Amino acid sequence: MTALRHDWSSEEIAALFALPFNDLLFRAHTVHREYFDANDVQVSTLLSIKTGSCPEDCKYCPQSAHYNTGLEKERLLEISKVVEQARAARQAGASRFCMGAAWRSPADRDMPAVLDMIREVKSMGLETCMTLGMLKDGQAEALADAGLDYYNHNLDTSAEFYGEIISTRTYSDRLDTLDKVRKAGMKICCGGILGMGEGNEDRMGLLQQLAGLQPHPESVPLNMLVKVPGTPLEAVEDLEPLEFIRVIAVARIMMPASRIRLSAGREKLDDTAQALAFFAGANSIFYGDKLLTTGNPEAQKDQTLFRKLGINSRQTEAVVDESVHQAALQDVLAANQSLFQDATRKDSERSRKPCGLVI
Ligand code: SF4
Repeated sequence: MTALRHDWSSEEIAALFALPFNDLLFRAHTVHREYFDANDVQVSTLLSIKTGSCPEDCKYCPQSAHYNTGLEKERLLEISKVVEQARAARQAGASRFCMGAAWRSPADRDMPAVLDMIREVKSMGLETCMTLGMLKDGQAEALADAGLDYYNHNLDTSAEFYGEIISTRTYSDRLDTLDKVRKAGMKICCGGILGMGEGNEDRMGLLQQLAGLQPHPESVPLNMLVKVPGTPLEAVEDLEPLEFIRVIAVARIMMPASRIRLSAGREKLDDTAQALAFFAGANSIFYGDKLLTTGNPEAQKDQTLFRKLGINSRQTEAVVDESVHQAALQDVLAANQSLFQDATRKDSERSRKPCGLVI
C-alpha cells in the first residue's frame, strides 16, 4: 500500500503536475483504490448558522463586511432551526452536517449556543463539523467535549500567495488554529480555493503545506472560486476544469487516505468533468441547495449523476481512513512532535508569479 508521506519536495510535486493527464489520472486512481472503495462518495450538507458582516477581508468571500455584495445578513440561527435543517439533511442522505459561522473567531457569549447545536445534531446520529474562524485557547477543547467531530479551517492557498488574498490574519494564525484542533482530538477539514489568480506553484505550495500536516487532514475540500459580484475577485480569470482535476489527482496521490472533497464551484463542472474528478480521487461532496452563500447543484441532480455513475452515497465514514488517521495521530502525539511542519520554508527561493487579480 502507498505509504503516507509528509515530506513531499517541490520537485516531486512539480513532476506530478507535469505528468501527461492520462498518466496522472491512472496513478491517482490506482492510489485511490488502495485506500477507498472507488464507487463511494461521502456526502455532507452545509448550513450557514451566522451569515455576513465578517470582519475578515478574504477577497473571495461575499460574507466579508469589507465588500458590498448585497448579501442578506443573518444573526446566529436559533437551535430549533439548525435541528430542523439537520433533520432534512439526514433525510436527504447526508452523513455529516457542517455548520459555518462568518466570524473572525467565536465570541465567548456565543459558545453556549454553538455547543448546544453540536450536541443536538450529534444526538440525531449525524457527524458534526463546524467552521467558526480562529479558535482561542480553550475553545477547541470545549467544541471537542460537546462532541464535534470535524473542524474546518482552510489554508486557502500557498503561504506565498496568501497575502494577496487576506490581510486581516496570517497563515501562521491558521496553522495555530489547526494545531489547537488537533491537540483537542478533533479531525481536521482543511483545503483551499483554486482559480483566485494564483500560479501553478501556489497550487503546488498549498498541496505541499496540506500534505505536511501530520497527520494529513482527514477531509481536504478543494474549491473552485465562485466569483461573486462585489468581491475583489469578481473578474479574475476562470480556472480550466482540467486544471482543477489535475490538482485533485495530485492531492489524491499526496494524501492517499484523506477524503478529497469537491466543494464550492462544483456547479461549474458538468457531469463529465465531475465524473473525471471522482476518477481522479475526489470522494466527498456537499449536497443540497446552498453551499453557505453560493450556489450548489441541487440534491436531485446529484442523485441522478450518482445513479448514472453507479456511485452510492455513504451513511458512515469508512473504517480504513479512520484507523489510518488515528494511528498516525497517536504516533505523532506519542513522539510529542509538533503537529505541523512549515513546508514552505524549504522553498523560500520559489519564484512567484504576479497575482493576476482584477480588482
Ligand atoms: S471566508 Fe470566512 S473568515 Fe473570510 S470573510 Fe468569509 S466568513 Fe469571514
